[in-house]
Amino acid sequence: MDQRIDIDWTACEGHGLCAELLPEHITLDEWGYPLVDGTPLPARAVKRARRAASDCPVLAFKLGTSHEGARGTARSAPTGPRMTERLHRP
Ligand code: SF4
Repeated sequence: MDQRIDIDWTACEGHGLCAELLPEHITLDEWGYPLVDGTPLPARAVKRARRAASDCPVLAFKLGTSHEGARGTARSAPTGPRMTERLHRP
């Protein structure tokens, strides 16, 4: 099952550690927040992605599977109904 990067935009503080670990999938915007390419992670990147998840200071970096979709992978994800849905999850 493909794994994808999922950023919790309500928690991300733009520390940029994830971009250092996965530069081929994440760049930083002008404020230091991650821009994720949204593609499935190749096997060679999964170990680094797990490290990014464990090293993220606010635990905003998560790994999701492809059946969960690319939810939260685009920098524009904080706006729109999906973000509203995420904010109201228990
Ligand atoms: S390491 Fe965590 S807090 Fe920092 S930019 Fe990445 S997801 Fe956001």
